[in-house]
Amino acid sequence: MIESRYRYTAVAIDRHSERLGELRLDPVFDAAVECAYLTAVRKSKLEARTRHEPARVEPRWDVHRGEPYVEGLQVRFATPDGGVFTSHVPRSYFTPAVEAAAATLVSAGKLQPGETFTYTDLTAFPAPEQDRHAGAGFQVEELSQPLTTVAGRLSDFLAQSESRGPHVDTDIPVFIHAHVLDEAIALARAAGRVEAGGVLIGHARRDGSLPELFLEATAQIEARHTLAGETRLNFTQDTWAAASRAIALRRRGEIMFGWWHSHPHFCAGCPPERKRVCSLSSPFFSLDDRALHAAVFGRGVDIALLITDTGTNHLSTNVYGWRDGAIAERGFYTMQPEETSHGH
Ligand SMILES: [Zn+2]
Repeated sequence: MIESRYRYTAVAIDRHSERLGELRLDPVFDAAVECAYLTAVRKSKLEARTRHEPARVEPRWDVHRGEPYVEGLQVRFATPDGGVFTSHVPRSYFTPAVEAAAATLVSAGKLQPGETFTYTDLTAFPAPEQDRHAGAGFQVEELSQPLTTVAGRLSDFLAQSESRGPHVDTDIPVFIHAHVLDEAIALARAAGRVEAGGVLIGHARRDGSLPELFLEATAQIEARHTLAGETRLNFTQDTWAAASRAIALRRRGEIMFGWWHSHPHFCAGCPPERKRVCSLSSPFFSLDDRALHAAVFGRGVDIALLITDTGTNHLSTNVYGWRDGAIAERGFYTMQPEETSHGH
């Protein structure tokens, strides 16, 4: 459950710092709270598998201007040892809420659709009793599926892996078995002009000596297209059922913590000089991808692997995950598991 007792507003300004109007924001705090829970689990302040305590989301006041000006958020919740855990979320967390609220400026004719604008004077005021949303938390309980962890030594994994992509220190380490990437790439090639995809399964490992939590993706379970001719990937009940069956058959106590999908070569029909400058031939996590990730993979640990056909022979592999409540590209490690007699 999430408790928020404040109402947030911002002032939209155009490129010339001209005031466009006040925006009443309706931020969704689920992702901020999920990231705070994950931080607490990593620091061993919270058990991964127990149901999480209710969280309170509050503004952090701007150090220079003070209340009601907001610098960011803080998420607080009680921990089993009787303490209170506090985690900070940056001001950038409000960007999606600002963009959504800007629709009112567009309908009022103050902003053209697609016109760039920015915002200033982010403020928070105590909300009237009836507006305080404490009930908005039902969705979070759904997303906070218990995370089963097994022991693992981070240094052992680092010793047998290769670093890929942009690493940020605060991200949880993610290890992907090399054959998972190979299979995803092969399925992406075989799918041709349609998207391929599936569920990522493996272990959430806890290294109690640090303490730290990290992911080991051991397999992928392909999601089949439910309708012939469908080019977009769909995660249906059948997808989850197939992944659960595969996990049961493998009998290794694996859990689901992400998904993968491919982007076919969108620029296949374009002339070469356009391909070089076209952003569609580079890996990108689309708005649809973000919506799916937020709706289905909303836990702080959840990741997404993207295979992009950039039009060269090499398919690029990129991993995305939650950072400060937003979806961002992140680094990962590839590894060859020591035991090779897995029988897949
Ligand atoms: Zn996509």
